[in-house]
Amino acid sequence: MKESQGHTHLQMNIASEKSGGLLLVVSGPSGVGKTTITRELERRLGGVFSVSATTRPQADGEVNGRDYFFITEHDFDQKVADGDFLEHAKVYGEYRYGTPREPVENKVEAGQIVILDIDVQGAKQVKEAMPQAFSIFILPPSDEELMRRLKERRREDEASIARRFAEAKREIKFAESSSVYDAHVVNDNLQRAIEETCCLINHRRTTV
Ligand code: 5GP
Repeated sequence: MKESQGHTHLQMNIASEKSGGLLLVVSGPSGVGKTTITRELERRLGGVFSVSATTRPQADGEVNGRDYFFITEHDFDQKVADGDFLEHAKVYGEYRYGTPREPVENKVEAGQIVILDIDVQGAKQVKEAMPQAFSIFILPPSDEELMRRLKERRREDEASIARRFAEAKREIKFAESSSVYDAHVVNDNLQRAIEETCCLINHRRTTV
């Protein structure tokens, strides 16, 4: 890590403690209901969602700047070189994803709850750089249910579903065996999972 980045983190640490801002990392395999949960957290807790940059093509219904910033490999490389990302990773061995550093730091410093929906590699980097971030991993109730939900989305073909399922299994194993996550929430019932996640965050905010 560059010296200047470390300094920024230290400043942010102090500022966020004073202002009540919180950096919230939410991970979980595709199809686990993570997007629904994070959008609901955004609404209930007045949090703001961090919009990532990605090299993945824009899908139908996605809006540039709302869902992601869709950028080229070249621009992604440039941002990595400039230190513009708080974390970045290649997800599912395919496309690259990164969290823009500046908006996240500014919003946490201003006292806001900033929500990152990022994979396990990204979560690990964020926790290393900023141990005060609160990280939650969303789990499916079972393998069978995860497969059923992946198929139900009808977003990918059979091969992509199989790849995402295998990746999900790896992510779950990692999340359970590492200390990257402060809490695990099983999404057996969406409303219950949202309530539990909100409770965990509120508890964290009152104890730190
Ligand atoms: P999707 O392509 O389905 O929108 O996202 C694929 C995966 O990439 C999800 O697990 C999501 O959490 C992860 N992801 C999205 N944005 C970022 C990011 O900025 N950094 C990292 N490390 N992962 C991300």
